[in-house]
Amino acid sequence: MNVYDSEQIAFQLVAMGYQQTSSLEKADLVILNTCSVRAKAEQKAFSFLGRLAKLKKKNPRLIVGVGGCVAQQEGAKILERVPHIDLVFGTQAVDRLPGLIRKIENRRCRIVDVAMTDKPDPFDAAPAAQDHNQVSRFVTIMRGCDNFCTYCVVPYVRGRETSRHPDSIIKEIRSLVGLGVKEVILLGQNVNSYGKKEGLFGFPELLARVQTIEGLLRIRFTTSHPKDLDQDLINAFQANEKLCNHIHLPVQSGSNRMLKRMNRKYTKELYLDKVAKLRDTCPEIAITSDMIVGFPGESEAEFDETLDLMKKVEFDGLFAFIYSDRPNAPATQFKAKISEQQKRERLQILLDLQETYTKKKNEASIGSIQTIIAEGFSKRQSSGGPDQPNPGAQWTGRTTTNKIVNFYHNDFSGSCDDISPGKLVQVKIEKAYAHSLWGKPVEIESTAKGSKGEKSYAA
Ligand code: SF4
Repeated sequence: MNVYDSEQIAFQLVAMGYQQTSSLEKADLVILNTCSVRAKAEQKAFSFLGRLAKLKKKNPRLIVGVGGCVAQQEGAKILERVPHIDLVFGTQAVDRLPGLIRKIENRRCRIVDVAMTDKPDPFDAAPAAQDHNQVSRFVTIMRGCDNFCTYCVVPYVRGRETSRHPDSIIKEIRSLVGLGVKEVILLGQNVNSYGKKEGLFGFPELLARVQTIEGLLRIRFTTSHPKDLDQDLINAFQANEKLCNHIHLPVQSGSNRMLKRMNRKYTKELYLDKVAKLRDTCPEIAITSDMIVGFPGESEAEFDETLDLMKKVEFDGLFAFIYSDRPNAPATQFKAKISEQQKRERLQILLDLQETYTKKKNEASIGSIQTIIAEGFSKRQSSGGPDQPNPGAQWTGRTTTNKIVNFYHNDFSGSCDDISPGKLVQVKIEKAYAHSLWGKPVEIESTAKGSKGEKSYAA
């Protein structure tokens, strides 16, 4: 969500005449887009802001702004805490950013704008792609959340749930596809409730409409709340040719008592039932999840229930977090806090268990042929540039199940075009690592048949 918001911010600034620079020292304007979902992210944001004091001293005309959830949460307190900040703008003030910056440029004043409204926000002034080389892009379809999980700040810092009009979503995706984008990741705190408040059609229908966009190869989405995952959406994994075989379905705990205290509104039995239905409908589906360890009052036996749920599901991947108190979140007031030491120990046990499943799942794909969309060079690799091409460079892409696959271009023995970002490549998987797969390319674009998620290309 923050990546998407940052793109919107960049789009507004470019329209004002600013240019992006990779050098912080050269910048006339620095905007930090923050996340407050966990205490650690917030601490990092303040430590980064502190370091900007030196730059401001060197260049007093430098404008420093803070946006996102920490800005929304802390408001004017940030100006007191960090004296060299010029602007604090909240999650609903992105559209007002150009006016705020112009005011600071002209009057050299300090501004706080964290106004929020519960009125539906159509937010259809979405930007086109900034970076034309990107193959995969986020597209926000909803904002805010009405669920009020007791550990979470989102409803307080991003406001109530609002769905974006489908015409605006489709328009943005068409524009992205026109710029070379092949895959979109539809974003919402709970995509399953898309359109319900506004009386629009539901999320499966939105997926069906996005599927008709010519030139788009793959659709992904995140996040799905287990309580609202219905059979229509489960069926979409079979019916929708472009929908990737992956769902991120945060469970947070395997203990019903903890789930109740978290206000998640489902039980572990219901969660397991949805997992079974997903696997019945789409046996190849990869399921990933989020888990919180050390929620206030979590006993050893309840932690064991979480491990038990993991054993039953065998997730493809897991994002596990240590619980931390957040301002405004009701759980902050809950008694029976778990010690930091105990939380760290539980996290390690959980991560060790998950590693066995991640490894097992990755190893199961050895010998298979996976279709990926080439995204670009993998980390620490480069093309070598136009004058000195590097045919040995390592490429990367993702399977429909969202697993990273790396490969060497010069392992390809066929006579097809060179690999370039956005091309479909079929890769025979030879090795499995903890976080990625390794293979040899066997077909590139013109001969790749395309598995589920690539039908429009094959056509
Ligand atoms: S569903 Fe719960 S965890 Fe997710 S954003 Fe909403 S309140 Fe937060």
